Amino acid sequence: MVRNFPESLKKDLDHCSRCGLCEPLCPSYKVMRMERYAPRGRVQMVRKIFAGELSFTKSLQEAFTSCISCGTCSENCPSGVRIDRVFSHMRFDLVQKLGQPLFKKMMLWFLRHPSVLHAGAASARIGQSWLIKPFNVKKKIGPIEVSRLPRLNKTPFREHLQTRIPPRGKKIGRVLYFVGCATDLFNEDIGQAAIKVLTGLGYEVIISKELGCCGLPIFLSGALDNALNNISKNLNLMTEIECDHVMFDCGTCGGAFKEKIPQLLEELGPDFAPLQDKALALAAKSRDVSEIIALNLDRIDLSTTNRDQKPLIVTYHDSCHLKRAMHISKEPRAILTKLPSIQYSEMPSPDECCGGGGAYQFEHAALSSAITKRKIHNIRSVQADILAVGCPGCQLTLSAALSQPNDPVVKHPVQLYAELKQFS
Ligand code: SF4
Ligand code: SF4
Repeated sequence: MVRNFPESLKKDLDHCSRCGLCEPLCPSYKVMRMERYAPRGRVQMVRKIFAGELSFTKSLQEAFTSCISCGTCSENCPSGVRIDRVFSHMRFDLVQKLGQPLFKKMMLWFLRHPSVLHAGAASARIGQSWLIKPFNVKKKIGPIEVSRLPRLNKTPFREHLQTRIPPRGKKIGRVLYFVGCATDLFNEDIGQAAIKVLTGLGYEVIISKELGCCGLPIFLSGALDNALNNISKNLNLMTEIECDHVMFDCGTCGGAFKEKIPQLLEELGPDFAPLQDKALALAAKSRDVSEIIALNLDRIDLSTTNRDQKPLIVTYHDSCHLKRAMHISKEPRAILTKLPSIQYSEMPSPDECCGGGGAYQFEHAALSSAITKRKIHNIRSVQADILAVGCPGCQLTLSAALSQPNDPVVKHPVQLYAELKQFS
């Protein structure tokens, strides 16, 4: 697709006063301490490209792929520069001019073809069962030891679900549950907990087996055309389904539908207006699972199945996309602090990035690992029993890194909500 860099984002570059307030907050700068790894430095590089003073090189591409797209810089820029959005478009241009590494092309191919993804997961599961566990394989993929990767589901989670799951008790509404790739392939526990909670609240749950990857990991990698294939297919299918809410258990998928996809389609111009209308309609109905619980909190009995036990210390990690694109951070805390079985403890800098970033941890293993190390230090400082994380991507990274005997167990908040007596 031939496109122009959006003019509105080009104008943002003029608003950068070079104050540097974004620098100390940026995860890649905190580790690398070099201007080219800081938002301000990258903004200046974009300016220089437009001024014809810099050209597209592999080194330039590395400066932009080493941005983990956490959005912290945009959230805190006093001049309102939409930094992460500028960088997304820069990555589109870089991919168009320089291509992508082979492993990323393969990853995108898998994400674009669910049947191939499922076949790949089935083979990987055989490897997990017959090689990795029995022979205690210590090999690493990126910064993660293969033995610490999550166990793949026996079959994709959606495969055995009915497409309409009735509510338990009086029906109060209908929810389309967008089952993301992570829950589908290796987090069925999260999916089962989400269905238990939704049906227990009185929602009819709709499952669509035709939906593919939300597209966000694809477009953040710079592969715009590939991402648009997934986005348009999903939007066309989802707008045909009648529902009160579209529910997500993943901050990245939710952030994609709530904000990132409508923004992208707007930036691509009037040709995408019909698709953007669909995206905006879905964004208005998009809710994280904690948001749905929070909406119903006054009619939930908070007693739990483990009432007699000593309260568990729980801390919460704000996933970047869940906080900055889905705008969810108060809701999980509002629920967790009310549960009698839980003693909530806030960690320092709970919204600091975990360093995972999907494919980022495999492409920039050393940098990713250094970012994760800072996060783990903060998590350990509160000596929690459970680390609650609303994004399966962060869960993968943090579970692999929390390998000491006293480290907290990583759970999705919905797994804690599902332990309430009302839902059992
Ligand atoms: S905080 Fe905003 S204005 Fe300041 S240097 Fe960063 S991008 Fe520029
Ligand atoms: S999006 Fe995050 S990693 Fe990228 S420049 Fe901004 S703060 Fe740094």
